[in-house]
Amino acid sequence: MTGRGDGSVIGGRIGLAVEPRLLTVLARGRQVALVSGTNGKTTTTRLLTAALGTLGPVASNSYGANMPTGHTTALAQSPNAQHAVLEVDEHYLRTVLAETRPRVVALLNLSRDQLDRAMEVGMLADRWREVLGALREQAATPGAEPTQVVANCDDPLVTWAASAAPQVIWVAAGQRWQEDSWVCPQCGAHLKREGVDWACPGCDLRRPQPTWWLADDDTVAGPDGIRQPVTLQLPGRVNRANAVTALAAAALFGVRPADAAPRLAEVASIAGRYATVERDGRSIRLLLAKNPAGWLEAFDMVDRISPAGAPPPPVLLSINARVVDGLDTSWLYDVDYASLRGHRVLVTGDRRYDLAVRLEVNEVPFEVVDAFTDALAAVPPGRLEVIANYTAFQDIRAELGRAN
Ligand SMILES: [Zn+2]
Repeated sequence: MTGRGDGSVIGGRIGLAVEPRLLTVLARGRQVALVSGTNGKTTTTRLLTAALGTLGPVASNSYGANMPTGHTTALAQSPNAQHAVLEVDEHYLRTVLAETRPRVVALLNLSRDQLDRAMEVGMLADRWREVLGALREQAATPGAEPTQVVANCDDPLVTWAASAAPQVIWVAAGQRWQEDSWVCPQCGAHLKREGVDWACPGCDLRRPQPTWWLADDDTVAGPDGIRQPVTLQLPGRVNRANAVTALAAAALFGVRPADAAPRLAEVASIAGRYATVERDGRSIRLLLAKNPAGWLEAFDMVDRISPAGAPPPPVLLSINARVVDGLDTSWLYDVDYASLRGHRVLVTGDRRYDLAVRLEVNEVPFEVVDAFTDALAAVPPGRLEVIANYTAFQDIRAELGRAN
């Protein structure tokens, strides 16, 4: 009513002020899944929610309010949902695990993010390992329902953290960005990589054998010879990997991949992410990317091909540096933009000149524009790919009438 947001936080904030144990109270008696990691949380939460929808109503913080206030609001809004899927900020895993006693925790990846305020990523992995190790005590308590961990075996930091847990289902969810996992989190030796495989020469840490993986672009492989065709509307390999994680987690709730897959196929966009909007003859696709790992994944989603004879579609990059984006955007120098060569590239946002410097060094030709509308006017009718970080994305989405 105050127009200051979509209301996914305020209810929980007031509720927790009145009853500090409200999240615990609301989670009691429900079957809960948590989804955490640096990238892909919101999408994977949405996919898992769709999969568990085969069992009945599911409570979820589907708009990305991923701290306890958002979880409390989500559970309060769906009092009759037996199942809940909650996206959890990486720094809140300990609290939310303790308060919701989940049946499943899905862990996607860990990489640098929000440099000015987030914990350094190795420390965060350390913290996760401690939290997940504590699940052993819980598992040893008579009568307690054990928490099962679904974790990405392609990410060494996640593997190290998750291997402290008593029960882990390993998923090969991929890792395009490897700059935060060159050294072994356990002993500090340089990890050896060969194809998707990785191992530490200094200790026993190595890539576990996955139970779930992508057999090819359209097929998910799972235990007992499962080969499930999965066709998504969401673009990119990373979203197919998110679907594998969602199917693996859903299976722990008794949902068969064959029943879940059609539900995943229905997910088209998430609060504007991946949405395509028509405006002035331009077909604008919106991709959200908030940190270097996310930017690399977004480049993979950019259309390389255009109708016969036409050049590949132009790409608009927009980076802001406001509080929720993280004020320190120096990470944009860590990203390799080379795959954008061949596209017409436009840059805008608060940090457009930083981007310009980086692109020049990277030998990617670019044009600086002052605003999204200038970019729109500058490109010909047809496709436009937009990659933006958080507030830049929201500004453009607002410009397009809250695109969904
Ligand atoms: Zn090691």
